[in-house]
Amino acid sequence: MSTLEGNNLIDGKAIAEKTKAEVVTEMAELKAGGIEPKLAAVQVGENAASAVYVKQQKKNCEKAGILYELKTLAANITEEQLLSEVEKLNGDASVTGIILQLPLPQGMDMRKIQAAISPRKDVEGVNPANMGWIVYGKPFLAPCTALAVKEIVDSTGIDLYGKEVVMVGHSDIVGKPVALLLVDKFATVSICHIGTSKAGMLEEHVRRADILIVAVGKANLIPGAWIKKGAVVVDVGINRVEDKIVGDVEFETAKENASLITPVPGGVGPVTTAILLRNVVRAAKWAKQQ
Ligand code: NDP
Repeated sequence: MSTLEGNNLIDGKAIAEKTKAEVVTEMAELKAGGIEPKLAAVQVGENAASAVYVKQQKKNCEKAGILYELKTLAANITEEQLLSEVEKLNGDASVTGIILQLPLPQGMDMRKIQAAISPRKDVEGVNPANMGWIVYGKPFLAPCTALAVKEIVDSTGIDLYGKEVVMVGHSDIVGKPVALLLVDKFATVSICHIGTSKAGMLEEHVRRADILIVAVGKANLIPGAWIKKGAVVVDVGINRVEDKIVGDVEFETAKENASLITPVPGGVGPVTTAILLRNVVRAAKWAKQQ
C-alpha cells in the first residue's frame, strides 16, 4: 500500500503530499480561469497557540499560491462587532474562504459566529448548513480533520462494507462527522464517549473494532492490548507528555496488534492541513459557480 512507511505505519505526510498535488493542479485551473482564491482568517485577541497555527496557515497558503489575510480584532470587541466583521468578509468578493480562529474570548457564542460565516466560504465546515450536508451524504466543505480521517481510511484501500468502525470521541468537528462519513460506506459505526467510559464499556467496544478512530485528547487512553489483531488504527489525539507529542493510543503496543496505524505526530495532522487547502480551493470553485 502506498501509505505505508516501512512496516505498518500510515504515512500521513505522503497522503498530504498527494492532496497538495491535487491542490496545485486545481489552483492552476482556477488561476487560468481568473479566480484568485483568498483565505481570510479572523482572530480575536492574542493567543499563543492560535498564533502558531495562524503562522503555519499563512505559510501553507502562500506555498500553495493562495492569498492569505489575517484580521486581528481587539480582545474586547463585542459579539455584534465580530458578527459585523464576518458579514463584511461574506460580502467581499475577493475573499473566497473564511476561517475563525479559536478560542474566542469568554462569553462569545462560538456557534453563533460560525453560523454567520457564509456556507460557501466556510472552509472549516463548521456552519450548520455544511454539517447538514454530511447528514445528507453529500459532504462538501466538511470539517478538515473529519475529512482527513476519511482520506486516511480510504488510502488503506479497506472495504468498509459491514466492518465494525469504532469512533472514540463525539465532538462536532471530529467524532460526529467522522461517524457519519463512514456510515455512508455501510460500515457498522459505534460512537463512544465519556458515557461509554463511565459505564465501563470502552474496552468492549474498542476490542471489536476493525477500524478504530480515537479523538479524545487523553494520552494512552486506549491500551495497545485492546486493539484487535489486524485492525486499522487512526489516532487523532494530540497530547504533550513531558517534551513529547503523543496520541490517545498507547502506540508501541498498539502497533504490534494493528495491521496499519497512524503515528503521532506525522499521521492525521499533516492530512488535516492539506485538506484545509483543498477546502479553500473547493470554496473558490464554488464561488465561481454562483
Ligand atoms: P473535544 O474535547 O471536543 O472532544 C473530545 C471527545 O472525547 C468528547 O466527545 C468527549 O466526551 C470524549 N471523551 C473525553 N474523555 C473520554 C473518555 N475517558 N473516554 C471516552 N471519551 C472521552 O476534542 P476534539 O474532538 O476537538 O479533539 C480531540 C483530540 O484530537 C484532541 O487531542 C485534539 O488536540 C486532537 N485534534 C487533532 C487534530 C489533528 O489535525 N491531528 C485536529 C483536531 C483535533 P464528552 O464531551 O462527553 O466529555
